[in-house]
Amino acid sequence: WRGCGWFSFFANMQKIEFWHISDLHLDPTYHINPDRTKVCSSSKGVNASDPGPFGDFLCDSPYQLILSAFAFMKDSEQQVSFMIWTGDSPPHVPVRELSTKLVIDIIGNMSSTIRHFFPDLQVFPALGNHDYWPQDQLPVTTSEVYNAVADFWKPWLTDDAISTFRKGGFYTQLLQSNVSSWPLRIISLNTNLYYSPNSVTVNISDPANQLAWLEGVLETSSQKKEKVYVIGHVPVGYLPYAKNITALREYYNERLVKIFRKYSHVIAGQFFGHTHRDSIMVLLDEKGNDALNSLFVAPAVTPVKNVWQTESNNPGVRFRRESNTALPFSFLFLQDLWQFYLDLRDANKKNESNWKLEYILTKAYGVEDLQPGSLYEIAKQLSLPHSRLFEQYYSNFIVSYDKTIVCEGGCKACQICAIQYLDYSSYTACISREAAWR
Ligand SMILES: [Zn+2]
Ligand SMILES: [Zn+2]
Repeated sequence: WRGCGWFSFFANMQKIEFWHISDLHLDPTYHINPDRTKVCSSSKGVNASDPGPFGDFLCDSPYQLILSAFAFMKDSEQQVSFMIWTGDSPPHVPVRELSTKLVIDIIGNMSSTIRHFFPDLQVFPALGNHDYWPQDQLPVTTSEVYNAVADFWKPWLTDDAISTFRKGGFYTQLLQSNVSSWPLRIISLNTNLYYSPNSVTVNISDPANQLAWLEGVLETSSQKKEKVYVIGHVPVGYLPYAKNITALREYYNERLVKIFRKYSHVIAGQFFGHTHRDSIMVLLDEKGNDALNSLFVAPAVTPVKNVWQTESNNPGVRFRRESNTALPFSFLFLQDLWQFYLDLRDANKKNESNWKLEYILTKAYGVEDLQPGSLYEIAKQLSLPHSRLFEQYYSNFIVSYDKTIVCEGGCKACQICAIQYLDYSSYTACISREAAWR
């Protein structure tokens, strides 16, 4: 009987939900001290600004802040299928204050903290540029750090994934799930190999053969009709807060963009961290006509900034949902995201961590979903002169750090060019268009 069919269809409404956390940057030295230069090593001798139990804007995360973030996620009782964790566990301190052993210990501490809160949850981690000693210098062959971290992450990853991880710090794994009508594959890239300050990889055309490996995995996925999530620490594209600067070395950025365009039909979404800010990017085709891919940069848990910076970010964690649409057999990836944050000043004042919803992306920007076309619509809205939506976007960019900070003129031009243009020629054309127009 037809009614039964409909009933069972609705009973089977499919959802994939997951958390995305990034840039925990634990500072184990953080402690309240009357001498404000001694609150945390990550302030590098500068006075902490207004230290409290949950941290300070000039310090990396106290353990209590990290615990509060995980406690909030656990208490929210969301039935997530997995968690993405895009790296950077150690603090921002001078190289001599860390060591291979300390870096390994901190990554181990963070891994077991996550496992303590979510003992049965599938976690897909990626390495960050700080997850090595000396920082940024991630190697192209097996190393003590890759091996130690592989041991920490063994409970989450398959033997195949662990084996490529030991060699180059990257892996791929299929999500074991009965909820998705599509096989969903995670590709965790070690984009730190392409990070500009990494001197190990200078003049290497394909460090650790990761690019060839990536193309191979995407080609196989395409043939098997899988969908892929690309996750990594350092994002592709241009830094939204700087002019003409890619986070990755330009050569690698161009090559990655090319691969992502070629396989955009396979890649359902891309998730990064590293900038500590909340931003979106939309990958357009070579002609700049069609939106091919949606990319999301999650803000950090750490609130740290340098003393000369005017802006920082409140601690943030995000929750994402993908689900099927009203039609059977059409699975909608990138349905929506919920950005949560901790108002650090308020939490310190009340001695209580009250993690709150900052925004829901579709509601905040008036779109149906987070598919590439929708993100492109948002980008066009943000580009309009005097866009109120852009003010909202910028406030979200700094995770509600300070509502009075405005981003106009050159600041806005960099933001909107970085959102829409990921390769050299289209980005530079955008920047000169913006300059001519002003
Ligand atoms: Zn970081
Ligand atoms: Zn980083």
